Amino acid sequence: MRVFKKNDDEFECRWCGKMIPKLKYSSRDHCTRCLTSIHIDINPGDRACNCLGTLFPIDVTINNKKGYIITYKCDKCGIIHNNKSAEDDHFSTLLKVMNKTYDKNYYKK
Ligand SMILES: [Zn+2]
Ligand SMILES: [Zn+2]
Repeated sequence: MRVFKKNDDEFECRWCGKMIPKLKYSSRDHCTRCLTSIHIDINPGDRACNCLGTLFPIDVTINNKKGYIITYKCDKCGIIHNNKSAEDDHFSTLLKVMNKTYDKNYYKK
């Protein structure tokens, strides 16, 4: 099974299959299309977690300084985790999460 590569490499989304290009200004950690991520870190970038469940977005909030903050829940261990949205995340998907109309199965490859 593929896991997300950290340190801003491009990767293929495990959930929807989209190829995600490098982010350049920061470390890419979630898919721009379906917004899912892999539970691999305890603290950002440390890869210290061996859960490897899929993190699904459950909420999006707006932070004046950081922009959109995506709240994730791991489908395996149930942990709740916040992550900053990337500038090229699909806004339509962010809106769906915000409006609670996000359906993860819609994006499944
Ligand atoms: Zn995806
Ligand atoms: Zn987990």
